[in-house]
Amino acid sequence: MRYAEHIADLVGDTPLVKLNHVTDGIACTVLAKVEYVNPGGSVKDRIALRMVEAAERSGALQPGGTIIEPTSGNTGVGLALVAQRKGYQCIFVCPDKVSEDKRNVLKAYGAQVVVTPTSVAPDDPNSYYCVSDRLVQETPGGWKPDQYSNPEGPNSHYHSTGPEIWADTDGRVTSFVAGIGTGGTITGTGRYLRDISADREGGRVRIVGADPEGSVYSGGTGRPYLVEGVGEDMWPRAYDPKVPDEIIAVSDAESFAMTRRLAREEGLLVGGSCGMAVVAALKHAATLPADAIVVVLLPDGGRGYLSKIFDDDWMASYGFLSAGEEVSVGEALA
Ligand code: PMP
Repeated sequence: MRYAEHIADLVGDTPLVKLNHVTDGIACTVLAKVEYVNPGGSVKDRIALRMVEAAERSGALQPGGTIIEPTSGNTGVGLALVAQRKGYQCIFVCPDKVSEDKRNVLKAYGAQVVVTPTSVAPDDPNSYYCVSDRLVQETPGGWKPDQYSNPEGPNSHYHSTGPEIWADTDGRVTSFVAGIGTGGTITGTGRYLRDISADREGGRVRIVGADPEGSVYSGGTGRPYLVEGVGEDMWPRAYDPKVPDEIIAVSDAESFAMTRRLAREEGLLVGGSCGMAVVAALKHAATLPADAIVVVLLPDGGRGYLSKIFDDDWMASYGFLSAGEEVSVGEALA
C-alpha cells in the first residue's frame, strides 16, 4: 500500500509544468513550479515544517507548546497543519482588513485567531506586532517562529525547493524567477542553485527577483500596491539582497492581468503573486536564447482571490479590466 502517515508528510516535491500559451513569442522554455499542490495550498508549508522542527531541536518549542505568529494567510495554514501533526496549539494575529474567509480557514484548521485594528501605528499596543509579542510573553510555552527573521525559512528552500528544481531539470535550469515577500524563497532557492551550478559549463543559474512596483526591493519606498504576499516597506533578515542578479518591478495591473490569463490559458488557477512572477519571468525570458530553461515559482492557488482578482467588478473598480477583456468576459457569461 502507498500512503502517507499524515498530510503534513506530503509537503514539497511539487511538479514543474511547462507554460504553453502566455509564452507566445518567447524562444526558450518556461517551466512553472506549482506550489499550490502542497497540502496547505502554498509554498509556506515548506518553511512551517522546518521552522517548527528547528525550534523543537533548540528547545524553543516544548511538547504541548503554543505557536504564535502574526500572519493572515499561507504561513498560518502551514503552521496549523504542522502543529496538528505534532500536537501544538496555534494562535494567529490578523489585522481586521483580512477577510473573514481567510480567518475562517485558519480557524477550520483548529487555530485561534486574534483580530487587531489595521489603522493603528506599528508601536501602538493594539497593533498586529505588539499584540503578538505580548501573547508570546503571556502564553506559557509560547513560541513565535517570526518568518521575517527566522533563518530556517531560507534554509527550507535551500534544502528542498532548490534541489527539487535542479533534479527535475537534470541540472539544466538556466534562470530561476520568484517573487520576494520575506525573501525566504529567493534567498534559499537562489543560494542553492548558484552553489550547485557554480562550476557548470555554460555558466551558473541566474537568479531573478520579481517585486511589486513601489516596494523597497525594486527601489521603491513601500508605496501601497494590491498584490498580496510580496513586496515590503522594510528589509527583512530572511532576505539576502546579494542573491538575486536582477530585480524586475511589476505593476498590479500587469500582475492581475497575467493571473487571469494563467487560469484561462494555462489551466493554472493561482494567486496574484504568481501572475507577478510570471510577468517578470516572461520579461526575462524574452531576452534569452532558445536553449535557455527558466523556472518560475508559483506560490499559491487562486481560490483565496475569487472576490478580488477573479471578480470583474473588483477589477473594474481599480481600472484593471481592459475594454477588450470586459467584452470577452461578458460574452463568456452569455
Ligand atoms: N506569494 C505569496 C502569496 C506569499 O504568501 C508569499 C509569502 N509571503 C510570497 C509570495 C513570497 O515568498 P517569500 O516570503 O518566501 O519571499
